Amino acid sequence: MKVKKGNYMYSLFKKTYKGSKQDFFAKLEENLNSNKKMFIVTANPETFMNSKRDISYYNILKDKITTIVADGIGIVKASKKFNLKIKERIPGIDIAKELLILANKNKKTLYLFGANEEVILKTKKIICNAYPDINILGYSNGYVDDKDSVFEEIIKLSPDIILVGLGIPSQEQLIYKHINKFKKGIFIGVGGTFDVISGCKKRAPKLFINLNLEWLYRIITEPKRLKRFFNNNVKFMFYINHEKRNKET
Ligand code: UDP
Repeated sequence: MKVKKGNYMYSLFKKTYKGSKQDFFAKLEENLNSNKKMFIVTANPETFMNSKRDISYYNILKDKITTIVADGIGIVKASKKFNLKIKERIPGIDIAKELLILANKNKKTLYLFGANEEVILKTKKIICNAYPDINILGYSNGYVDDKDSVFEEIIKLSPDIILVGLGIPSQEQLIYKHINKFKKGIFIGVGGTFDVISGCKKRAPKLFINLNLEWLYRIITEPKRLKRFFNNNVKFMFYINHEKRNKET
């Protein structure tokens, strides 16, 4: 796909879901119950910066199978610079939890892929207890050598929901590589969500979430994220302003 120079961010904001979290959840349930295939990418500045560095990742985001939602407040705020107002953030962890609620309510099937063995096993047990009507067809940790063969297995099982927590960009690349072989399924890259569901990592306290400072909590608790934050979020702000200025001239 050819991208008009200086149009990367604009084109991604344009594609990002603009509506409310509630409406998005209603759409999830509709798609789940009609077996409509869906690939959700929960975007934060790192997602958009990555797509600027790697055209194949950009093409994944732009493909018609992909639904982009704003995971982080950085995306919501920056969208306003282009007058493309995104209503609110819809964090990936909230989507994952909603999918579990919907799967339980509608007796759907699930596959879990990602994180280390201890985390994914704990996650599976917690889901089994909290959502007894979900049929977990299988799970795999995310450190297996051959991740494609895990997907071959998932294709055979044909679950209704596939949660993939391998981190950006490999979770999206892997889903995209195989999604055409599936007849149905809601696919989502969930990053470190299994670490949180399993209780191995804590999500930010409510106060941080409500003040849209979840990103700050993650840096405080995991200082090694600082470099990643600079390379993505700080550069993202510079790049957005640069692209905006170029659009105006
Ligand atoms: N992970 C994995 N396999 C790998 C590399 C990472 O399963 O080869 C997992 C890792 O254990 C963690 C998740 O991917 O559970 C990435 O979490 P991170 O917090 O970095 O993702 P974010 O939410 O920031 O995108």
